[in-house]
Amino acid sequence: MSDSSMLRQWAEIKAQFSDCLIFFRLGDFYEAFNEDAERFAGVCDVVLTSRPVSKDRRIPMAGVPFHAVDGYIAQLVRAGVKVAIVEQSGGDGGADKRSRMSRAGMSQADAKGDSGRATTTAEPSVPTTTAEPSVPATAPSPDAASGPAVRTAKPAARPKLMAREVVRVVTPGTLIEGDLLEARQANYLAALVCAPKGDGVGLAHLDISTGAFATTDFDGADSLRHAFDELVRLRPAEVVVPEPQSATDDAFTARLKEQLSQSGLPTVVMGHARWQFEDANARRVLLEHFGATTLRAYGCEDRPLACAAAGAALGYALVAQRGRLAQVTGLATYAVDDYMTLDAATRRNLEISVTLRGDARGGTLLSVLDTTRTALGARTLRAWLDRPLVDAARIAHRHDAVGALVDAPEARAAMRDALAGTPDLERLVNRAVAGYAGPREVLALARAARAVPAVATIVSAAGGTTVQHLGGLCRQDVSEVAARIERTLVDEPPAVFGSAGTIRPGASAALDALHEGISAARAWIASLEGRERERTGLRKLKVGYNRVFGYYLELPKSMADSAPEDYERRQTLVDNERYVTPELKAREAEVLGGEEQIQALERTIFRDLVADVAAAAPVLLAAARDLGILDALASLADVAATHHYVRPSLDDSRSLELVGARHPVVERRVAGAPFVPNDIGLAEGEIVLLTGPNMAGKSTVGRMVAHVVLLAQVGSFVPADRARIGLVDRIFTRIGAQDELAAGQSTFMVEMVETANILHHATPRSLIILDELGRGTSTYDGIAIAWAVLEHVHNHPRLGARTLFATHYHELTALSELLPRVRNLSMKVAETDGRIVFLHRVVDGAADRSYGVHVAELAGLPQSVVRRAWALLERLEEGDGVPLQEAVGRPVADEQGQLSLFAPAPTAAPHPALDALRAMDLDGLTPLEALTRLYELRRMAQG
Ligand code: ADP
Ligand code: MG
Repeated sequence: MSDSSMLRQWAEIKAQFSDCLIFFRLGDFYEAFNEDAERFAGVCDVVLTSRPVSKDRRIPMAGVPFHAVDGYIAQLVRAGVKVAIVEQSGGDGGADKRSRMSRAGMSQADAKGDSGRATTTAEPSVPTTTAEPSVPATAPSPDAASGPAVRTAKPAARPKLMAREVVRVVTPGTLIEGDLLEARQANYLAALVCAPKGDGVGLAHLDISTGAFATTDFDGADSLRHAFDELVRLRPAEVVVPEPQSATDDAFTARLKEQLSQSGLPTVVMGHARWQFEDANARRVLLEHFGATTLRAYGCEDRPLACAAAGAALGYALVAQRGRLAQVTGLATYAVDDYMTLDAATRRNLEISVTLRGDARGGTLLSVLDTTRTALGARTLRAWLDRPLVDAARIAHRHDAVGALVDAPEARAAMRDALAGTPDLERLVNRAVAGYAGPREVLALARAARAVPAVATIVSAAGGTTVQHLGGLCRQDVSEVAARIERTLVDEPPAVFGSAGTIRPGASAALDALHEGISAARAWIASLEGRERERTGLRKLKVGYNRVFGYYLELPKSMADSAPEDYERRQTLVDNERYVTPELKAREAEVLGGEEQIQALERTIFRDLVADVAAAAPVLLAAARDLGILDALASLADVAATHHYVRPSLDDSRSLELVGARHPVVERRVAGAPFVPNDIGLAEGEIVLLTGPNMAGKSTVGRMVAHVVLLAQVGSFVPADRARIGLVDRIFTRIGAQDELAAGQSTFMVEMVETANILHHATPRSLIILDELGRGTSTYDGIAIAWAVLEHVHNHPRLGARTLFATHYHELTALSELLPRVRNLSMKVAETDGRIVFLHRVVDGAADRSYGVHVAELAGLPQSVVRRAWALLERLEEGDGVPLQEAVGRPVADEQGQLSLFAPAPTAAPHPALDALRAMDLDGLTPLEALTRLYELRRMAQG
């Protein structure tokens, strides 16, 4: 093969997959050429080299060994690069065309010469061609089958150019490799398409690692915003949109990217050919894939945008997977109305699965609820939390199940033990269906399947309500598949199919016979030396092996004349002569040919096994779903039992009543002092104004109410002594003044955009939590806006939603005298010797004042500043207005309270701690931040 023909092949593939970085398999390496090489070296830490293509031309090249490729693919994909994997598909050696994994494994095993079952190590495995470096060492040459002897007679022909093809395109949303996937969350590919007039959006999502595929649509002027909320919920790894064609399209893509990054999503946006989103094409792709004639069963026959998005997503994944998507067996068209709607801001504010600081582990609602034992359970629980229900019957169903498990601690513990360490059945099945599963994974699949009857037995044994509410789960009969796998594979099969040693002795009579044949031939060869010495009387006779001639009999030159008749001379060395006999050649062929046959037969047996697993996929996947549900339910029950949650009662009213409620996350965080439970009631259409100084616990109460409602409708028990909740259709929050300047929007702008969204979309069934609304602007503006918003919520016929409004503007409490459904509550504080203590308790009535100066004092402001503030406050409260004349250029009194009139002009710069103090936005600080700043200030003050 010449380099130029190989490069031509590369260029042809590159032309077809021009948007991809091509990983071109050359022997044991994947190579990137030209611009790809430069890009590869730019993203990953690999050395950029070059390769000569003609006498005086070299092209850039960068390569990695095949066995290390996954890590590099992961890096590239994370950087938004699509990678096309090009494998050698030709050669007459019958290399497996489907799986790059299996071929990779084969060469690895061959290189080490370890073939699992080999009984002697003296022999090499199948020889590999080394004639030319760029020819793969992996595909056996046609000669190999007949063994070394033939090779000598007929020198290896110069190999032709290997056929190569793209076996798959790897993108963030189409990963299937277990190592590249996040086990505990879904890996979605989303497709988004807008109606030409912008009055509708289709949004589909597909997880090819689990086969989950669903689509929805939105209409009306706000459709894009709703679609975006749904995207935030899904957190896809990748979203494909029609390739931009105009400046408007570009602007749209840019906006989408911006919104995604604002929500802290690592989602990669990819353009995909426009026609793929067109109705006719999308329908065709879906119908062909499902082998259907109508999309009615999938619910999107009459929903063109949902259909367009689904077709585009599937089409994109089909290209990436080169048509292998057998695991995608269904499509669900859903309506966002089936679930409680949580807009992007609310999801963020409630820190459901990511904190406001972007931490995805600690401090989230998910983190306090997730004690699942399996990745499947973790994904299920996350999906539930992301989608609270609105249907009372479905919620009750989950509460029943959680309750049953709360009441059966032993069964719960046994079940969780059985689930612990269970491999990811769902993803394993899908890998098997897609043809990627190696032997070790198939065996793991059997082990995972064994958990199904195990937990079902535990449930049945528990009896009572456990059986009543959970008895229907994990009833699938998967033992037969598991047994079939265990019967077929050895106990510790290799990760990738390749060398012999995958199939269990006894699984196939034909295979066992081959092994016996080989053993017999080996034994015959091993004892040949002794026998021949005996027969010929030539003590110096030896049996040996070399790569070129295979087995031979060797005699010193001096004894050559005594060689028996049947010895055929093969090679003459300085001191020795080497011979073969027909029988030796026959046995040698048995050994080498036998190994070939064993490989081929093992491959066939393994493929049949995988085909059987794939055939059982629907049952296995249903079982996997049940395992996930049981694990998630058990996790909820465990948390409920450990942390004293109760079953909430849900009804059709539009009020709610919480007694002894706790914030699920904060209650686990407060060290030392215990969390103070609170009672909160919201009558139909009631607006509660919660006042109190900073740090008193207002925000905590607001989030607590939202969390309790959310948990209740997820189907979880709730952290309270008692909770009665009228079903909520949407939760809206506008919480805290976060600094979103990093995202390019001022805090106040964000606040107003979110508030506008609430006023447009809330219904009488909604729950609105407003926290410090209007704080982002001046006091009078802020109070005016808050006032107007509350009036609107109170009076608008389409609103009247239950609302909790936390504010430190105690001026607003006057509203309760004007609006009948406004009620004042406040956070109790105790005052001793002019100092305040936060009791974190909600009490009736308005706070009498802001306690701002108290808080400033607690924060450690210098005594002189605090005293001055008290004095000014007094003047202001008496209605004297701001005593401006006093504020101008007066030197600060020193610690003794004397005015240092004659103190030297401050030549030295003022102390930096003071500047820092002045620059501090106390209202915008969390208590923890305040404390941290305080330490900083003290450090500065101490020099
Ligand atoms: P505010 O919004 O009134 O400024 P926060 O709700 O931010 O106050 O609460 C301030 C801090 O007080 C919280 O970080 C928390 O540590 C503590 N806290 C709040 N509520 C409670 C409670 N009910 N029990 C114990 N500690 C609480
Ligand atoms: Mg607050």
